[in-house]
Amino acid sequence: MYRFAPSPTGDMHIGNLRAALFNYLCAKAKNCDFILRIEDTDKARNIEGKEEEIKEILRLFNLSWQHFYIQSQNLKFHRQMALKLVSEKKAFACFCTKEELEAKKELAKKQNKPYRYDGTCEKLEDIDVLECQKPFVIRLKKPTHTMKFKDFIKGELSFEPENIDSFVIMREDKTPTYNFACAVDDMLEGVSCIIRGEDHVSNTPKQEHIRASLDYEKRMTYAHLPIILNEDGVKMSKREAHSSVKWLLEMGILPSAISNYLILLGNKTPCEIFTLEEAIKWFDISKISKSPAKFDFKKLLQINREHIKRMEDEKLNKLLNLDKDVAALAKFYTQEASTIKELREKIQAIFSEKDCTKFEAECKILKELLKDIEPFENYEEFKNYLLEKSQLKGKNFFMPLRIVLTGSQHGPELNELYTHIKTFIHELARI
Ligand code: GLU
Repeated sequence: MYRFAPSPTGDMHIGNLRAALFNYLCAKAKNCDFILRIEDTDKARNIEGKEEEIKEILRLFNLSWQHFYIQSQNLKFHRQMALKLVSEKKAFACFCTKEELEAKKELAKKQNKPYRYDGTCEKLEDIDVLECQKPFVIRLKKPTHTMKFKDFIKGELSFEPENIDSFVIMREDKTPTYNFACAVDDMLEGVSCIIRGEDHVSNTPKQEHIRASLDYEKRMTYAHLPIILNEDGVKMSKREAHSSVKWLLEMGILPSAISNYLILLGNKTPCEIFTLEEAIKWFDISKISKSPAKFDFKKLLQINREHIKRMEDEKLNKLLNLDKDVAALAKFYTQEASTIKELREKIQAIFSEKDCTKFEAECKILKELLKDIEPFENYEEFKNYLLEKSQLKGKNFFMPLRIVLTGSQHGPELNELYTHIKTFIHELARI
């Protein structure tokens, strides 16, 4: 069982989407279920509408899930498990106040030592956590031995008990901390492998310790994905436009191209351009590079052009939404434009009123001829016919012809363009 566990606290960024994609691919390849779990326990940071947005993005990328959970709906299990740990004396109520803990942290800082919980409340006897009126948190006792786990990307990782510490699992308001909720849910939902960003590496020994304390015996495997760097080699911030999936989609980059790029990033793949379905057949999480991957927007655009060229005409026409069969023309224009948005603008310009001011008389002559022209199979015949009939020569022929046909003084070779535009000649002559 694999899962994607986003928090509804912001725009989905490419790091999140990459984790979703990899979990989905592994689930499909192993023929097991893919879970979507919304981790909404940090109430203050939740944003209204984000859950729907996440689902919409996953649908758009064809990442269909078999099970859906909302973390806060598991609250009763989180509480039950915490009580179980307390009753088994694996966890304890801690009454230390914020001020007391702050003072101890300050002292550790002054002594140049890392702060660790000093065990003050661990020794308290006979606390009935159900009846107790004084505010308290619940801490899980730190492990007694080194915690080790296997990571498909990083190899074997180990953490010492001191560095795991006796950490908080339930807050004063009786809600679970992130690590506790996450560890319990993964256990209850039968997750077998966790693929997520490497910013969670330090959470993993805690989550392993939680499950071990709950006597959960099934082994969990992990893959912590290296961070994505921006083009300057700095960790990509969530605020950078390029990192927002929504922004990339709004720019007119196809979901299939974004998936392709994110699967390719820091990976060894058998080919460069592929579909999600194809990737299911060969994707291997252990091939992902240990080093951070650098986001290359130009490469993403190149991949997008390739996906546009391979798209079914009907689908492309629908996306361009120009009420015409311009798929072939759009594919041809990928030599100049990389996104659906740019292509729409280019093609719209072809079918809009042209600025003929520089060659007014010439354009007029050509338009008159084009209005009733019989369609020619090839450009040579088309050009020769117009040259003869218009009596125009050289630049005074080619420039106005290009303007009348495309609305621009520069652009692709007319002999190559002609095949894709010949069915529209009469329409263009009338604009
Ligand atoms: N909710 C966490 C996040 O969005 C993911 C935790 C996980 O995958 O375990 O970063």
